[in-house]
Amino acid sequence: MSIELTDVNKIYKSGEVEVHALKQASIDIPDKQIVAILGPSGSGKSTLLNVIGGIDRHDSGTIKIDEDMLDNMTDKTLTEYRRHTLGFIFQQYNLIPTLTVQENVEVGRQLSQNPLNMDDILEKVGMLDKKDKFPFQLSGGEQQRVAIARALVKNPRLLLCDEPTGALDEETGKKILSLLKYVNETFDTTVCIITHNNGIGEMAHKVIRMKSGEIIEAYENEAPLDPE
Ligand code: ADP
Ligand code: ADP
Repeated sequence: MSIELTDVNKIYKSGEVEVHALKQASIDIPDKQIVAILGPSGSGKSTLLNVIGGIDRHDSGTIKIDEDMLDNMTDKTLTEYRRHTLGFIFQQYNLIPTLTVQENVEVGRQLSQNPLNMDDILEKVGMLDKKDKFPFQLSGGEQQRVAIARALVKNPRLLLCDEPTGALDEETGKKILSLLKYVNETFDTTVCIITHNNGIGEMAHKVIRMKSGEIIEAYENEAPLDPE
């Protein structure tokens, strides 16, 4: 699914202090691409992802998702958009500790109107043989695979990933990036990845660089590399 931001602003107010977290942000993200969002801490990366994901409302400007404008969406429509269209991946996996792998993925399946087959997805992320394990019995890389399965089983058009490899060692992180690339190619899912890791930029179709709330650079990669 394609995303188009035009002059998007987001200001956080806490008491007297105002933080201009997004300043006139304009960007096109074409359908079926992998996009890397790079920049230092506090530069507005999460805010950008959150306004695209309908977690946060922007203050001005327009956000178009395919043909739909997020700007005037009611809270109810925004909730449906989050549930049915999007998948979220976080640095800290956010699995439910008292549920098995299969039960965690079932949570995603229940949210969706047109879920994919659970075993098929578990197999694709390489976790089918561990479906009865609990999160504490898994390595970090495996927990992130389960989190990806939970997002994927919803059959999302757009996968929003906030530092998906931030808690993993380099080798495991590369495997997770390979999996995200495979997801992008297999399901035609648009994938946005926030990262501190410049290496991720090399595997993306498009790179967005942020600083102090502004998009300071955006370019297409002619030949995205494999994470290996
Ligand atoms: P990044 O993801 O690049 O680290 P963020 O989007 O999280 O940056 O933050 C951008 C700026 O907005 C920072 O200065 C941050 O402190 C501020 N900010 C983010 N979320 C909130 C919030 N909920 N309330 C107040 N300020 C916030
Ligand atoms: P990955 O590269 O997918 O992160 P690892 O090489 O870290 O996998 O782990 C290999 C195996 O060791 C896994 O199958 C996992 O079950 C087990 N393992 C790793 N870390 C832990 C842990 N903290 N607790 C229990 N089992 C673990």
